Amino acid sequence: MSLTKKATAAMGYDITLIPGDGTGPEITEATRRVLEATGIEFRWHVQEAGMSVLEREGTILPQRVIDSIRKTKVGLKGPITTPIGRGLRSANVTLRKSLDLYANLRPAKSYPGLRSRYHDIDLIIVRENTEDLYAGIEFPRGSPDLNELIDWLGEHHQPHLDKEAAISIKYISVAATRRIVHFAFQYAVANRRHKVTAVHKANIMRHSDGLFLTTAHEVAKEYPQIQFEDRIVDNMCMQLVQKPEQYDVLVLPNLYGDILSDLSAGLIGGLGVAPGANIGQEYAVFEPVHGSAPKYAGQNKVNPMAMMFSGVLMLRHLQEYDAADRLDHALGAIIAEGHYVTYDLKSAPDDKTAVGTSQVADAVIARLRAAH
Ligand code: NAD
Repeated sequence: MSLTKKATAAMGYDITLIPGDGTGPEITEATRRVLEATGIEFRWHVQEAGMSVLEREGTILPQRVIDSIRKTKVGLKGPITTPIGRGLRSANVTLRKSLDLYANLRPAKSYPGLRSRYHDIDLIIVRENTEDLYAGIEFPRGSPDLNELIDWLGEHHQPHLDKEAAISIKYISVAATRRIVHFAFQYAVANRRHKVTAVHKANIMRHSDGLFLTTAHEVAKEYPQIQFEDRIVDNMCMQLVQKPEQYDVLVLPNLYGDILSDLSAGLIGGLGVAPGANIGQEYAVFEPVHGSAPKYAGQNKVNPMAMMFSGVLMLRHLQEYDAADRLDHALGAIIAEGHYVTYDLKSAPDDKTAVGTSQVADAVIARLRAAH
């Protein structure tokens, strides 16, 4: 350990903690407790965001949340509900765009004891996080901008577009593609991975996905030590279901990345254990793949492990590798034993032996202490 690293570890870390809404606060509290039990010192800057803030302040993501992450550089976040049909932009999309968290890293790894048809999954999904159909360039039905766009398209491209419609634009740039593909290769090199697969639909979207594909090929030439290949997204879905063991690091535009990371979570045993990280040049925010599961809010029921594994990713980001490994092993041991796990990891969802969110935290903490 370097002197600077020793000094930082001794002083502790400033982390912005966003409990979110729905089941977010429960899993965040469970995760905070297990992270503290690793012995690493954290100064939590708790920031509220989500539905309760919306009622009070008219926004689901107050500016102070973003300002806090700008100061601490690192955030740990519970899920936040996106109210549908209220014209509100997702807090998650806003956060990722405001902080330019361009890379969404979603590992999918099998642990013994997880209920799944597959056993040796070890995939890394690298999803571009800032553009594609998620760029927010949308033209609502009935808006003057939509009518103008349809008139323009009528003159230049598509003569017969119906105005009773809505349009979302798929925007893919060379710069963003270059940096996400570099990120995937650099991750592969740093983590001794052997192959990167670029996923696209360039046979149909020849210009947007075509650009993604040709740019990926160009970047791949800079990493001759890592194998490179590409797959069309529909074929990739089938391949992941049939022979996931043949894949290693996948790099994808935003929408395909979102869908395939849930698919990959399904390969390893569900959303309850699927972690995620949003990483940019300056800042990083760690959060589970799953959403706020609002129907279970306040019931001490859902699985906190996806957020705890996101905490493992955060510890690695902070270069606290020993603490990360200890927490990872503790979680793996609890999963393998199968006693102190929530309903989603039991063989039947109504299994009476399933424990609650906070009991999982207690068991992980006991395991961490026993290993010390
Ligand atoms: P969801 O992930 O919240 O829940 C879907 C189902 O998955 C749940 O009903 C539950 O059965 C299961 N599940 C999810 N998390 C679980 C856990 N930790 N343990 C056990 N089971 C779990 O997806 P949704 O219902 O589509 O989304 C709910 C809200 O969350 C929406 O408003 C959505 O926009 C938002 N969302 C937020 C994020 C985020 O904050 N990063 C991500 C995805 C969805």
